[in-house]
Amino acid sequence: MTHAFASTLQTFKTASGKVGSFYSLPVLAKQYPNIARLPVSIRIVLESVLRNCDGKRVLPEHVVEVAGWKPNAPRLDEVPFVVARVVLQDFTGVPLLADLAAMRNVAHEMGKDAKTIEPLVPVDLVVDHSIMIDYFGTKKALDLNMKLEFRRNVERYQFMKWGMQAFDTFGVVPPGFGIVHQVNLEYLARGVFKTAAKKGELPVYYPDSLVGTDSHTTMINGIGVVGWGVGGIEAEAAMLGQPVYFLTPDVVGFEFTGKLREGVTATDLVLAVTEILRKAKVVGKFVEFFGEGVAGLAVPDRATMANMAPEYGATMGFFPVDDKTIEYFEGTGRTRQEIEAFQAYFKAQGMYGIPRAGAIDYSQVVSLDLGTVTPSLAGPKRPQDRIELGHVKKQFTSLFSKPPTENGFNQPAAQLLTRHLVRAQDARNGEGVGAKIPNHPSVLPGAPRFVEEMTANKPTLAAALHEAEPALPAHADMTVGNGDVLIAAITSCTNTSNPGVMLAAGLLAKKAVEAGLKVKPHIKTSLAPGSRIVTEYLTKAGLIPFLEKLGFNVAAYGCTTCIGNAGDLTPELNEAITRNDLICAAVLSGNRNFEARIHPNLKANFLASPPLVVAYALCGTVLKDLMTEPVGQGKGGKDIYLGDIWPTSDEIAALMKHAMNGKAFKANYDKVASEPGLLWQKIKGVQGQVYSWPDSTYIAKPPFFAGFEMQPQHTEVGVKGARAIGLFGDSITTDHISPAGAIKEASPAGQWLKENGVVKADFNSYGSRRGNHDVMMRGTFANVRIKNLMIPPEANGSREEGGVTLFQPGGEKMFIYDAAMKYMAEGTPTIVFGGEEYGTGSSRDWAAKGTQLLGIKAVVAKSFERIHRSNLVGMGVLPLQFKPGDSWESLGIQGDETFDVDIVADLRPQQDATLVIHSADGSSRSVQLTLRIDTPIEVDYYRHGGILPFVLRQLLAA
Ligand code: SF4
Repeated sequence: MTHAFASTLQTFKTASGKVGSFYSLPVLAKQYPNIARLPVSIRIVLESVLRNCDGKRVLPEHVVEVAGWKPNAPRLDEVPFVVARVVLQDFTGVPLLADLAAMRNVAHEMGKDAKTIEPLVPVDLVVDHSIMIDYFGTKKALDLNMKLEFRRNVERYQFMKWGMQAFDTFGVVPPGFGIVHQVNLEYLARGVFKTAAKKGELPVYYPDSLVGTDSHTTMINGIGVVGWGVGGIEAEAAMLGQPVYFLTPDVVGFEFTGKLREGVTATDLVLAVTEILRKAKVVGKFVEFFGEGVAGLAVPDRATMANMAPEYGATMGFFPVDDKTIEYFEGTGRTRQEIEAFQAYFKAQGMYGIPRAGAIDYSQVVSLDLGTVTPSLAGPKRPQDRIELGHVKKQFTSLFSKPPTENGFNQPAAQLLTRHLVRAQDARNGEGVGAKIPNHPSVLPGAPRFVEEMTANKPTLAAALHEAEPALPAHADMTVGNGDVLIAAITSCTNTSNPGVMLAAGLLAKKAVEAGLKVKPHIKTSLAPGSRIVTEYLTKAGLIPFLEKLGFNVAAYGCTTCIGNAGDLTPELNEAITRNDLICAAVLSGNRNFEARIHPNLKANFLASPPLVVAYALCGTVLKDLMTEPVGQGKGGKDIYLGDIWPTSDEIAALMKHAMNGKAFKANYDKVASEPGLLWQKIKGVQGQVYSWPDSTYIAKPPFFAGFEMQPQHTEVGVKGARAIGLFGDSITTDHISPAGAIKEASPAGQWLKENGVVKADFNSYGSRRGNHDVMMRGTFANVRIKNLMIPPEANGSREEGGVTLFQPGGEKMFIYDAAMKYMAEGTPTIVFGGEEYGTGSSRDWAAKGTQLLGIKAVVAKSFERIHRSNLVGMGVLPLQFKPGDSWESLGIQGDETFDVDIVADLRPQQDATLVIHSADGSSRSVQLTLRIDTPIEVDYYRHGGILPFVLRQLLAA
């Protein structure tokens, strides 16, 4: 079939004279002059729609729609975006691989070739989410943590090895190389791709684009690649050749003017950007950066801004390609040929260079003078709550006694400075913890960090772990109090990908050590670079020894504290915190600080730049004002202030040459294939094209295709006679719905694991067990901090935390999982009620999969986070939105009612639905809702029982 826009196929030439073809937007612009003023990000989407216009998946009308994008218009059209590739992290990648394997089972059982199910675009899985900080503050930390990681995850890694040999286009970057988004930025992204050249034809070049199964996939927007995080469910569809459908977005232009002041970091800038964009309400929109201030920013700084798009709520935070992007490609070891093609392609498309003010028509413009940005932290509960460094002490003090409705901790103000004696030995006997030393000024020095040797006579690593857990030695008396920093972690791709802030942390450590400052031994310090390159340049710059001296030894190449894999605190500290209800702190260079994300017992979590993480480790409390009070006492008892140890921009710039070394990058990433590591090489997977599902508590055949038939069975629309299983407040995160962290022994998931012979030390995390639905459905709504407001408040107004509900009728309190099973057994559907931003946080398909497996048919909320809403539809669960002004509270819903959701059978996107509430006293009332099935394709997904059966039917029918 002739391409509907065949005349747009043109040629371009690279600097060394190589010729390629491309679908030319300047030629299309002759027909649609509007294109010249389109945001660059929209033009990249337009190129994909143009190139893939095949009259089936993508229609000529789609090209016309995107070419005619208007800055302000009703957003009713969906764009079919075919991406160049897919990236996965291991927590989300494993369940996706399990789904693909189950699809192969279906194909095989139906007598089809198993290879019918095969990714059609390159898929790269980076193993980065599994490593935990069990060991820290020792040179052996990395080695020991990796050994534990392999011990805990061997079954998952065996499954990945099966995937590597079964699927042709599926690659794995093994554990120990780095964090997915940093590896993507430094290695996987190639700038432009080209088709295999047919005989007599030139290859067609096209821009890199992707979706990833992780919210922070947007980091790649820092080098001009269009891409964002999707749930595993959508990623599966994308890798099987389906377009990613999204509503035509608004594009918010963000202009930077001026320059950052001396001493201000990219982390400070991104916290300011997050605060501004949260206020500008950019949820569901693209953000595109422009202006002279952007042109002056190095790529790693841009990547830091792009990374935090989920925190400011945007789909993307996009930076166009320019000379700085090309410099970055040169500094990271991309080949000359690739770089030339990349530059020539973007120039030929008229998309090279950061746009000047006024050059593009954006839906809305916000601006920031970089010179106004100040050093800051964000927290203690949300990333958008920025606090200037000089206000941290004041803010913590004020939040300490404020009510939870004002983001406070609801503690008596008089207890702020009370300190509690922790006697390590007595604590083990259950005595002595909690003795109060009012107003004790500081934490007493402790003792060695922990027992670091795993002795040879331990039968298993898990047993060794029991005995080698970080522990205070017998007589290490100390005190702990509110505001104490107990975790200080240089973590997260947001910052570890940025040599500027990593070198700053090393320089600050050097100056601190030279000044004689020390870190208190009980503070859990860790350095978890997002790639080995970081260690290489910090070593060459001579900074590693100083970081190590302060306990910031390299402990992992992975997500660690950022994803909640901070590892535990000592039992003594945990007990002191819980017994005295202390509000202790973590300071981390991450991007998320929701409740219980970092550690279940640390309620105050502050995001900060890597040098500030080191500074807070040194001072040990957020109750010191680092702008006016000394960080600590150095040699001879001399007061050392932050200004004494803060590195200058010249000092950082002088070391930058070590960070951008193309040869080092190439040598490092060549090892993914040639030297993946002994631990990885020893892993052996099942062979063959169809997976045999050996017994495992990590990997199990997902139930989503049980009873699969070629005709959809899911014909009924709406819900009848449902019970409420949860009434939740605002900002319920995907981590509340499907936690990634520790599995409690008493929880339904913990009980199931024990029944299946797994000892507590080997529970691992929910995140690592996403390949097993038996664990994950029991873990749904099992976050230790989730509050089901159906449970009446305590006498003091506080609310019970944890995944419990009241089973109706009768109101018996039980785990949500247990209630869900009872409701399902009696054939009663269930509904969840939520507030604003339901499903905010990381993209997590298990938050939707678990919801479906608990028999929940609808979620009714005031608003939804973008990915979670589409994941609910993708699993066949109805998202429904209250009309403005309505909420379950305003409607007087208590949880003992029954509910109907009435929807006309002819489903249409965003139509009205009726919620009928039948109260226990026999009365009924109804209210209108908006159906949040947003697009026509989502109607199809819902009718097919979800996106997976939809795609499978298409593939098997082909
Ligand atoms: S470091 Fe944090 S933001 Fe980056 S991929 Fe890991 S969990 Fe996500």
